[in-house]
Amino acid sequence: MQFIDLAAQYQHLKQRIDDRIQTVLNHGHYIMGPEVEQLEQQLADYVGVKHCISCANGTDALQLTMMVLDIKPGDVVFCPTFTFFATAEVIAYAGATPVFVDSDASTFNICPQHLEQQIENVLREGKLTPKAIIAVDLFGLPADYLQLEPLAEKYGLTLIEDAAQGFGGEINGKRAGSFGDIATTSFFPAKPLGCYGDGGAVFTNNDDYAALFRSYRVHGKGRDKYDNVRIGINSRLDTIQAAVLLEKLATFPQELQNRNQLARQYTELLAPTLQTPVVPSDYLSSWAQFTLVSAQRDELMANLKQQGVPTMVYYATCMHQQTAFKSLGYTDKDLPTASRLAKQVFSLPMHPYMSEKDVGFITSLLLNDPLVD
Ligand SMILES: *Cc1c(COP(=O)(O)O)cnc(C)c1O
Repeated sequence: MQFIDLAAQYQHLKQRIDDRIQTVLNHGHYIMGPEVEQLEQQLADYVGVKHCISCANGTDALQLTMMVLDIKPGDVVFCPTFTFFATAEVIAYAGATPVFVDSDASTFNICPQHLEQQIENVLREGKLTPKAIIAVDLFGLPADYLQLEPLAEKYGLTLIEDAAQGFGGEINGKRAGSFGDIATTSFFPAKPLGCYGDGGAVFTNNDDYAALFRSYRVHGKGRDKYDNVRIGINSRLDTIQAAVLLEKLATFPQELQNRNQLARQYTELLAPTLQTPVVPSDYLSSWAQFTLVSAQRDELMANLKQQGVPTMVYYATCMHQQTAFKSLGYTDKDLPTASRLAKQVFSLPMHPYMSEKDVGFITSLLLNDPLVD
């Protein structure tokens, strides 16, 4: 059994993906070929925003966002401490200060109440300038944008949605990638919508931001790439990856249904005995991960491994616990919920080509484990 079976997905789509890649090999436009623009249009339509600008990976999507917003030393960007490193990395790389926020205990997403406290703390100290919030759609569940959007408005902060894991999620039918002022995503192979290498994209309704993204991703280009009007980077999505994504996007709605079916089955079987993921009403998760919480995590994972079931921990180390951020001086007492989650969460196999029989097997192992009662 695989944790995420990408080969099974390829077998399912093989002919169509092979044909798409062959088309690119034949036309030879390997950089910014026609598939790139076609994909950007389809992604913008799917998400329901005006502009999609693809780039080389999800970290660059966030970094380009810092560049577009002119985030610099002296600025503060708020982000959850319980996330993948890239979310916080790009803030520090821009020379700004990341201020970490605790998690909601049931959704694992950024806690809006603690966010407001942290904003007030920074304002009270008066040394740094609050500029933006990066909220993360952790494990596929959109963050609480119904509270985050008014909060960003109240304090005049730009709201960024890190939808690297969230592509396909929804709140009241509004899709991930459309929340806040700018959203970013990743096409890393194991993400809900993945390609066969690195890839990423940003989404926005703002025409000025969109023009800046298109410039920054190609060396700060002006009229053309040999007219450079600002300092940018080289961050484009390869045409071959765009070709792969066009086929993956075509089958994505079906895959999203499969994931939700499997998640329902996991939840029905496990919820009476274990802490299963919470999806608030009117929310849809893209189930990047199916994550449980248990004080006996390590033992449960070892027992599953013995029976051939792979599991993973996302994430064992919060941002405030990372060596690279030690100098910021946080302790676990400052961020108690996330610190506990880092010790207790673990994720079960989840991918759209998994069978209900696999879910039945995994859940019966867990429910029959003497540690679980
Ligand atoms: C994967 C991920 C990223 C970075 O994406 P890459 O394409 O790997 O650079 C950023 N944020 C979150 C929350 C992620 O899960």
